[in-house]
Amino acid sequence: PFDVLVVGGGPAGAAAAIYAARKGIRTGVVAERFGGQVLDTLGIENFISVKETEGPRLAAGLEEHVKSYDVDIMNLQRAGKLTAGDLIEVELESGAKLRSKAVILATGARWRDMGVPGEKEYRTKGVAYCPHCDGPLFKGKRVAVIGGGNSGVEAAIDLAGIVAHVTLFEFMDVLRADAVLVTKLKSLPNVTIVMEAQTTAVLGDGQKVTGLAYKDRKSGESHKLDLEGIFVQIGLVPNTEWLKGGPVDLTPRGEIIVDAKGQTSVAGVFAAGDVTTVPYKQIVIAMGEGAKASLGAFDHLIRSSVP
Ligand code: FAD
Repeated sequence: PFDVLVVGGGPAGAAAAIYAARKGIRTGVVAERFGGQVLDTLGIENFISVKETEGPRLAAGLEEHVKSYDVDIMNLQRAGKLTAGDLIEVELESGAKLRSKAVILATGARWRDMGVPGEKEYRTKGVAYCPHCDGPLFKGKRVAVIGGGNSGVEAAIDLAGIVAHVTLFEFMDVLRADAVLVTKLKSLPNVTIVMEAQTTAVLGDGQKVTGLAYKDRKSGESHKLDLEGIFVQIGLVPNTEWLKGGPVDLTPRGEIIVDAKGQTSVAGVFAAGDVTTVPYKQIVIAMGEGAKASLGAFDHLIRSSVP
């Protein structure tokens, strides 16, 4: 069996694997796609100490760093089931069963998309999901924020301080964000709010986003708005479908509940990164959490009676 088995090969999983391997213990990583969300990212300007890099380059760096240690990497494998016990069992969808004294869950999350024409085509060419990451790229430009929940309204307030103008689109007839946020949003001079709007298409010139098409759900009329950026804020979905039904406790939103050491509700099972309840989903944060969960797992191992 493994001493530490990491499920997930994004920034959190890579950090966890390196910290475990450096303890000289038997370490494995199972990943559906080594690199994770970073592979889908173009410019990265907030990975501290690296002024500017690109997703695929950072992903290659993660892999190279992990491979410089004695880590058993099982790429292109999906975990399908976890069973608690003295030895924790992770069953892959291929049918293989892996056993480990400690497991670190780092399966990440994915942004819910609008599912409209043009969205995929213009992703990273104007369609963005992370205001902390891409906000500064739209300095002085016009952007839309899709979604009037807390994340959408927070994004709109954040972006209003950077860009020329923000238009926030909400599907329903009410903003679901906290009242203080809505009050703050409404006080900003360069923000317009469009209610009961259904976005229907992302418009572009072949190179980049030029506008957004939407339908007024009340009148049924179609409209177009010229702009340079669209931030989609309609939810971040944790990759925990495979964990539903236990034994690891999840929040109603599906995030894995962890304590300050990354420990989950199951002894020997730790979690890190975007898949957990830890707020603010970012690369540096995921790496730090991965390192922390790995040290938590090591702490668990040296105290455990399983030989
Ligand atoms: P992920 O990166 O999501 O990795 C999860 C890993 O688990 C992957 O290897 C995946 O294949 C694997 N996995 C999932 N399910 C299973 C399963 N059942 N079995 C086995 N493996 C599984 N952050 C920044 O800090 N700066 C940025 O500029 C930035 N830009 C971004 C741009 C885009 C377009 C996106 C989508 C995200 C961006 N982020 C950025 C966020 C950042 O990418 C994430 O916070 C970070 O990747 C989270 O790391 P993670 O390891 O927790 O999860």
